[in-house]
Amino acid sequence: MSCIFCKIAKGEVKSAILYQDDKVVAFPDINPKAPVHILVIPRKHIASVSDLTEADEALVGHLFTVASKLAKEQGISKHGYRLVVNCGPHAGQLVAHLHLHILGGRQLLMMG
Ligand code: AMP
Ligand code: ZN
Repeated sequence: MSCIFCKIAKGEVKSAILYQDDKVVAFPDINPKAPVHILVIPRKHIASVSDLTEADEALVGHLFTVASKLAKEQGISKHGYRLVVNCGPHAGQLVAHLHLHILGGRQLLMMG
């Protein structure tokens, strides 16, 4: 498996891990689009939202609660932030491993 996010989750590719537990890992986006830009991923390789099953529901909920905690830790919770999940080519998904973007620290414009 040559998935870059699986490699980060396993520690095979170095990243400044901001949070990890047995189910998810969070690390800074390598090409930040905002002052705070963090990715939260499941350790389990799921290519995209299209590949989720009902068995993943608790895991997806956990991604959101971890994102909420990280946003508070990063000091962006008060002013607000955006959570983004791209799915497939029309959304511009580049990495085929499910990930939640946390974007904040500046006023964000509406998406096109
Ligand atoms: P998406 O378009 O939703 O698939 O976004 C993928 C994101 O992963 C982009 O914002 C990239 O900058 C980011 N990214 C790609 N490789 C790495 C990496 N090795 N470490 C951190 N972020 C990465
Ligand atoms: Zn993966």
